[in-house]
Amino acid sequence: MTQLIRPFDPWKSPLCTCREKYSLNPYTGCAHGCLYCYSTYIPDFYKLRLKKRLEQRVEIDLKKIPEKSLISISNSSDPYPPVERKLEKTRNILRLLRDYNMRIMIVTKSDMVCRDVDLLDKGAVSISITTLRDEVASLIEPGAPNPEKRIKALQRLKESGIPVILRLDPILPGLTEGEVEKIIEKCSFADHIVSSTLKLRYDSFKRLKNISGEVYRRLYFIEGEKIRNSFYMPTEIRRNILDKVKKICEEFGLSYAFCREGFNFRAESCDGSHLIP
Ligand code: SF4
Repeated sequence: MTQLIRPFDPWKSPLCTCREKYSLNPYTGCAHGCLYCYSTYIPDFYKLRLKKRLEQRVEIDLKKIPEKSLISISNSSDPYPPVERKLEKTRNILRLLRDYNMRIMIVTKSDMVCRDVDLLDKGAVSISITTLRDEVASLIEPGAPNPEKRIKALQRLKESGIPVILRLDPILPGLTEGEVEKIIEKCSFADHIVSSTLKLRYDSFKRLKNISGEVYRRLYFIEGEKIRNSFYMPTEIRRNILDKVKKICEEFGLSYAFCREGFNFRAESCDGSHLIP
């Protein structure tokens, strides 16, 4: 059986600034259906599948790694698809991670994470928010809970004493970049913000074409550059967008970082893992 807990390695990106951590996906595929998703190189990605003998295999892997390792759940799927409410696969995994004294980073778009607050005393929670407009969210993230639910979840977790991270990620040029200030303002109670601009692959470009028209073709494939498997906008454009994020975070006195952009930031970690006890 293949390992389920693996060293985090985002396609060997030279721009990744993450500290050493492990990645674990309780589910294969994701029902949230985000048009920009970076994981759709996995066949049938939008069709959620269960992993065979998940709990047993995770326990085998846990015995092989040091205590207090940082485990990120999930980087290539969402750990809280709707079916998790009934199946509790992610909850079972969190119990195991607690029993083996691991440090946990949850990355999700779902408010369902609040259910598991009792298992996160050695954890932090990152929630991705790309827009405050329901009509935009339902267009680009059709299966995910709406932005208001995600903000409320961040607030509830914060009130429970869990470190919370806003993932302002990805920022879609021309579509959501104008909302950056409002999103940060609404989430200014967060302990850390990590942000990035949209990266494209051919499949995500096709999915976003109805929204972006030909603009993204020019920005990414003609004027932009390819880094490993993804197309980036020109550096100057990315820098302008993220300078705005930086300026607003500084106004609010917030810790911030950028994800795989190649720009400097002063936070102790990009992903907010420095907040985990
Ligand atoms: S929630 Fe994450 S993994 Fe799921 S479709 Fe959206 S971007 Fe992809």
